[in-house]
Amino acid sequence: MNRKTATRAFRRKHITRETSLLKAVSARPYTLPELDYDFGALEPHISGRIMELHHGKHHAGYVKNTNLTIAQLEEARATDDFTRLAALEHALAFNLSGHVLHSIFWKNMTPKGGGRPDGALARAIDASFGSFEKFRRQLTEVASTIMGSGWAALVWEPVGERLIATQIHDHQSNLAQGGVPLMVIDAWEHAYYLQYQNQKTVFFEALWHLWNWKDVAERFAAAGRLDLLVPGGASG
Ligand code: FE
Repeated sequence: MNRKTATRAFRRKHITRETSLLKAVSARPYTLPELDYDFGALEPHISGRIMELHHGKHHAGYVKNTNLTIAQLEEARATDDFTRLAALEHALAFNLSGHVLHSIFWKNMTPKGGGRPDGALARAIDASFGSFEKFRRQLTEVASTIMGSGWAALVWEPVGERLIATQIHDHQSNLAQGGVPLMVIDAWEHAYYLQYQNQKTVFFEALWHLWNWKDVAERFAAAGRLDLLVPGGASG
């Protein structure tokens, strides 16, 4: 068998194994959500090509790899072989968190967005950050100072019952446990580089023309109903 044939055979074997593993989770797989708008609808702030790649390749990849990791964990239990468990747990946290954050990010934006929130969300932002301007400045700065790949997020912290701004490293690390992301900024290079190159802060500023405050307010209301039964907080 020459090298080309061997490579093709290896790829075929790999793909067949992946397909059979994915069949194992076919009953309840994670799925890539449709966008509520066209790829080009967020222009000029985010180019259609970025949206197409970001949703169709990057996010789709996290969904596929979440399903694959779930299948591999099922296989590990079935064969009682936990030798790769730490790597699989890391892959699950990374890919599933990537899926969750991107799903929120798409909903957080809308073609006719921007402005500022009102009602209970606006009051909570004032109470937690001092003012909308200070919140906007802090969240943009949180995104700009990510080292490497990560996210900035507005999070409901249910123990202390307050909003916090946080950095999320990669997709899964550095988030206080129990915190619920309400509004997120993708600070990975794939989110902006084709259009903004090294000017990532210009991209983060542009996002303020797109925020869907109705969506963020709905998440805030839903998160406020969460009780982790953890003592020691504002109401504990
Ligand atoms: Fe992304």
